[in-house]
Amino acid sequence: MKAVVIGAGIVGLTTGIAVRRAGADVTIYEQAPEIRAAGASLGLWGNALAVYDELGVGERIRAIGKPGEMYFHDPAGRRLAPPGFQPEDHQFVLVPRAELNELLADAVGRENIKPATGFGEYEEHDDHVAVRLSDGSSTAADVLVGADGTYSAVRAQLVPGSAAQEHAGHHAWRAVIENPGIPLSENRLLLGSHGTRGGYLLNYDGAVYWLVNQFNSTEPAGSRKQQALDRAAHLDQGILTELIAATPEEKILHNQIMLVPPLPHWTSARVVLAGDSAHAMSPHITAGATLGIEDAALLGHLLAPGADVPKALETYAAYQIPRYADIAKLSAAVEHSPTPEEFARNYAAFSHWMLTQQVTV
Ligand SMILES: Cc1cc2nc3c(=O)[nH]c(=O)nc-3n(C[C@H](O)[C@H](O)[C@H](O)COP(=O)(O)OP(=O)(O)OC[C@H]3O[C@@H](n4cnc5c(N)ncnc54)[C@H](O)[C@@H]3O)c2cc1C
Repeated sequence: MKAVVIGAGIVGLTTGIAVRRAGADVTIYEQAPEIRAAGASLGLWGNALAVYDELGVGERIRAIGKPGEMYFHDPAGRRLAPPGFQPEDHQFVLVPRAELNELLADAVGRENIKPATGFGEYEEHDDHVAVRLSDGSSTAADVLVGADGTYSAVRAQLVPGSAAQEHAGHHAWRAVIENPGIPLSENRLLLGSHGTRGGYLLNYDGAVYWLVNQFNSTEPAGSRKQQALDRAAHLDQGILTELIAATPEEKILHNQIMLVPPLPHWTSARVVLAGDSAHAMSPHITAGATLGIEDAALLGHLLAPGADVPKALETYAAYQIPRYADIAKLSAAVEHSPTPEEFARNYAAFSHWMLTQQVTV
């Protein structure tokens, strides 16, 4: 079994580890000149950590992780703990994205990753798929995995007309900074007025990750810092505002949130999408990477040497497409919650579902 993976983000790298561990040969092509991880820190849920335990890298990931709890606070500072959920429904581990990707790249084996090599196009045949790359070379494989993110070029060929779309008015600002000397005894996640959410969380190494999001935002204007401060005013007049004020402008990331529309298919006989390329979704459920890690694990189980690739990909799509229809409903319920209490309850309902309704093959 030979697999070609396009994209060395979290999902491509995890797919590489999973499929190699199953016994296949894997080459990952990444268009960027190096393994990179745009973004700040990332919350990984128990189902992602279970995959990493199975793949033999769980302990290394926990060593760069800081356990946290996804409890929100309302604008009055009250902690919202919706009834009917267990502490484990709220537990995640915060990891720095860049360190996570470096660790995953080491686990795949650097010799199996080809940086500065983008995807060109593919051509499917009965017994293989031919993949043309940006340097003009071609390679043949049993299966092609498009893990090339929201703007996936593999998806553009597999599902024409499926370009990513703006989630209108939904923006996010975030940064990781050394603690500028502000005493932080605990993480704090906040739900504010004007469609805002945000908070700050501690990394394992003492650095602080802060984030601010807004639904139905006006078009952002001014510096990124001012944009974040304007939204933070609806959340907190204290520590979050101080953290943003202490952050150099160049460290602040801003994203217009983009979504991949529901796809009629994720696979053909020898081509498959995984991660954001298949299902980039709104980050208000903070689970896009975690769910993509599940895609990778499932591919690892299905693509063992000797597997019938078209059948394996049919099975993958049969599990994942209905699963994402459910996720879309749960995510919409969180987004459209009219009160902080309902947001917290619908969020816990989503995380409980995600942690208990895992795919098993
Ligand atoms: C503000 C925000 C906060 C978030 N917080 C969380 C969180 O706390 N927890 C969580 O689970 N998720 C979170 N997410 C979602 C998470 O970031 C994504 O779901 C995850 O990064 C997707 O990983 P991926 O590997 O599928 O795609 P990407 O990380 O986008 O990786 C795709 C890779 O493919 C490469 N590539 C692209 N095109 C080509 C090409 N043509 N040829 C070769 N290579 C190519 C890219 O350079 C990149 O390296 C958040 C998202 C946002 C926007």
